[in-house]
Amino acid sequence: MKCTEFKECVCEIIDHRLSKERTDELMQHAHLCPHCGFEFRAMQATKEIVHSKLQRSSVPSDVYYSIINATLNSSNSSWFTRLFGFRLNPALAFVAIAVVVVGIYSFFLPAKNGMPEDANIISQSVKNYQAVIGGSIKPQLVSSEDGVRSFLAKAVSFDVNVPKMKGCSSCAAVLSDFNGIKLAHVVYQVDGKDIIYIYQASMNDAMDGKTIGLPDEVRDELKKTDWYVREMSDSTTLVIWRYKNTLCSAVSSMKKEKMIALLTEKDLKE
Ligand SMILES: [Zn+2]
Repeated sequence: MKCTEFKECVCEIIDHRLSKERTDELMQHAHLCPHCGFEFRAMQATKEIVHSKLQRSSVPSDVYYSIINATLNSSNSSWFTRLFGFRLNPALAFVAIAVVVVGIYSFFLPAKNGMPEDANIISQSVKNYQAVIGGSIKPQLVSSEDGVRSFLAKAVSFDVNVPKMKGCSSCAAVLSDFNGIKLAHVVYQVDGKDIIYIYQASMNDAMDGKTIGLPDEVRDELKKTDWYVREMSDSTTLVIWRYKNTLCSAVSSMKKEKMIALLTEKDLKE
């Protein structure tokens, strides 16, 4: 038997897709030929690794973000083109879905009020942040903060909050509708690398909890202090706060101190 014949069949052997006779014949070669024997053991080990990884219960989010960052930083085109100009990379989409399925739910607070998970504003914010990073949410407008504010303000009934951030290099707007509720989304790129995503909805919609809502603990905290801050296990930070009649929910990989400073910059100047 020639080595090429063995190499063409090695995957079939490992996947047990050949008859016993054919397998024995091929394996006889692998026992005699050190090259093919090595190839067989290497392929088998790879398959075992893949299997054991797939059975593990979680894909760490930091792996996801490091893949994203490597992808984003690998090209010289503008950040927004890189983020939004291409179709979602299927490999990243897969990782994103894996993170959402196995990773994200673990850091949501249990909603004791029986609210469905997809109505949870925290869940929506985190998923949208990941979709922005992964490129599956595309901006409808890229402009100055004022341009973004007036674009969004025309479509929603609540006050849109687009703080002017120090070091902001791009600002983008997205409008969406969740079961009849209008939502506004603002995305910033800061210092050429960090991304801040802000989900915005009417405070009344968020607090009545009929279509969108918050876990009870978060709602209570907001009622008391107008703020809720949480550093999540995947090194992202969640900041929820009241702005006039608007609920804002921001997600970023920044540390909470820096994030809060940026989010409140405009308020301090007013
Ligand atoms: Zn061989």
